[in-house]
Amino acid sequence: MKILLHVCCAPCCIYPVQSLRTGNLEVMGFFYRNNIHPYTECLKRQDTLQTYAEQIGLPVIYQKGYDLEGFVQNVVYREKDRCSYCYHERLRTTALMAKRGRFDYFSTTLLYSKFQKHDMIRSIGESVGKSAGVAFFYEDFRKGWQHGVETSKSMGLYRQQYCGCIYSEKERFYRPEKEH
Ligand code: SF4
Repeated sequence: MKILLHVCCAPCCIYPVQSLRTGNLEVMGFFYRNNIHPYTECLKRQDTLQTYAEQIGLPVIYQKGYDLEGFVQNVVYREKDRCSYCYHERLRTTALMAKRGRFDYFSTTLLYSKFQKHDMIRSIGESVGKSAGVAFFYEDFRKGWQHGVETSKSMGLYRQQYCGCIYSEKERFYRPEKEH
């Protein structure tokens, strides 16, 4: 059985890929780029994934183009709800690609993160899977959180400090109280 796995970054795919392979699934990765800002950060995450994927023999499809403008236009004025749009776009794109490629399932490494909205991701995955006609594979990959952290650190993989979009970068680093 084949599964297309949306991969947000190398550290987050360590445990999910191991777990899926243990379940005898043939895994292919898909790296979505539009929500990772700025472009140099996107390339840094992509390069890290390319290096890691080669090491573990994981084939990966890398999204073509870089529609930062489209992402921002779709979340402007509803920045607080931007994650639901972001999850939806990433999962919908993955599901459609999985359908075209005749995969049995699709899933996402977002289910690994302790910092993401896990239940929302599951619900959106199941919904876009139904619309696209391909099954969403759900597993709570968060149980492998510590393993992923330790492995990525021991391998010296680049570990990003914020989720991806420019808004999340601001939330991570902007501390108005420290300004004068
Ligand atoms: S914080 Fe993360 S999940 Fe939310 S919109 Fe930004 S990149 Fe997407």
